[in-house]
Amino acid sequence: MNSQGWDRDPMIDDVEARAYTIPTDEPEADGTISWDSTTMVLVRVRSGSTIGTGWTYGAAECAAVVADTLTPLLRGRGALDIGGRFDDMVKAVRNSGRQGAIGYAISAVDIALWDLKARLLDLPLHRLLGAVRDTVPIYGSGGFTTYSEHQLADQLDGWVHEQGIPRAKIKIGESWGTNPARDLDRLRQARTVIGDDVELYADANGGYTRKQAIRVARAAEELDLLWLEEPVSSDDLDGLREVRDAVDPDVTAGEYGFDLTYFRRMCQTGAVDCLQVDASRCGGITEWMRAAAVAAAHGLEISGHCGPHLHVHVAVATPNLRHLEWFHDHVRIERRFFDGTLDPTGGVLRPDPGAAGNGLVLRESDAEPFRVA
Ligand SMILES: [Mg+2]
Repeated sequence: MNSQGWDRDPMIDDVEARAYTIPTDEPEADGTISWDSTTMVLVRVRSGSTIGTGWTYGAAECAAVVADTLTPLLRGRGALDIGGRFDDMVKAVRNSGRQGAIGYAISAVDIALWDLKARLLDLPLHRLLGAVRDTVPIYGSGGFTTYSEHQLADQLDGWVHEQGIPRAKIKIGESWGTNPARDLDRLRQARTVIGDDVELYADANGGYTRKQAIRVARAAEELDLLWLEEPVSSDDLDGLREVRDAVDPDVTAGEYGFDLTYFRRMCQTGAVDCLQVDASRCGGITEWMRAAAVAAAHGLEISGHCGPHLHVHVAVATPNLRHLEWFHDHVRIERRFFDGTLDPTGGVLRPDPGAAGNGLVLRESDAEPFRVA
């Protein structure tokens, strides 16, 4: 028996994946897509009586990928050697490809494995990963192009004046960049609502052309815009670089990165001032840490994309972290489904140093009505 009281290494006994579709509170759109619901795919990995939980925001089909493709690779294998489990998953999907639903599924499993390991060792996840700070800065994110003036003001007011979050991001690039005048009006309104001392960010979700993005950024010069996310498609690395060279705000992208090659290319081409990484897409906590190292080697910080509660512990353990995205839709879902969600007051998240794993407990009865798979 070892110091944990185990006769042998804990094994993965079972893996379960479920999908939940939750309607948005209002119709939502960014520069290039609109939606009225969000699907969360939740993965639970069990070892004995200990359960690790991970999730991703992706298609319900991810649950079938977990059940059919990944679970057979995991069941009966060691729960502590996450590197080995991750490697097995990535190698097994060679012919299917790691992009899309498969990458989301691997990510959710990896996040669940890290939570499981921390709970087996009775450690908060950020302590297992190796904390470099106690708290993580966040920015309020939403500001959908479908919002009325009143809705936008209400949301910004809530983050900045009620919760004291000193950074706020709105969506621009409305309808594939066909309404830059309204984009600029909304940026001006946002600056007025949040005041002069709060950082103003904008995300065009790839809605503009290169020169159009430069014109909008220049027209917004007096608004002190600090962050311009995906001014053009994140596939257009030359275009990101061109915009980056021409405007003052930091140009950022990376939310669709599925592997290290993607992040290396984005850094190497000088496309971004800050690399965005989404652990629920890129390959979980395992690949987030490697992506952070790629960015660090290029002298860049990283920012966590969406899903704040699945990122907060690894963000605490990431030296070159700028901040996490406190995204309206995901905050709403995470609060509805879990006990133990964090308070954003003051613009930082502080994971509970006394709670094992990710510190969250799923409220199954609250999630069940939204279950689709
Ligand atoms: Mg974005």
